[in-house]
Amino acid sequence: MIDSGMINKIQKAKEYAAEPRRIQFHSFKVQFDGMNDGHAVEYKEGNWECDCNYFRGHGVCSHTMAMERVLGVMLPSPVSV
Ligand SMILES: [Zn+2]
Repeated sequence: MIDSGMINKIQKAKEYAAEPRRIQFHSFKVQFDGMNDGHAVEYKEGNWECDCNYFRGHGVCSHTMAMERVLGVMLPSPVSV
């Protein structure tokens, strides 16, 4: 049973979903299936972490860059590539 309150919430959810800028991640952890290997990628208060070798040397890697592309405007300060 869907009442009018629920219908309003669904409508609001659609409006919010069209405005992803309203949503900002603080932290999350993902398992990234890379072409050769799986990697643990973490985002914490604006900083990326990845357990791959390239990230250790450069502070950025294809995995974190891919995450930035996927999440785009939802990150507090998106690095547009
Ligand atoms: Zn990586």
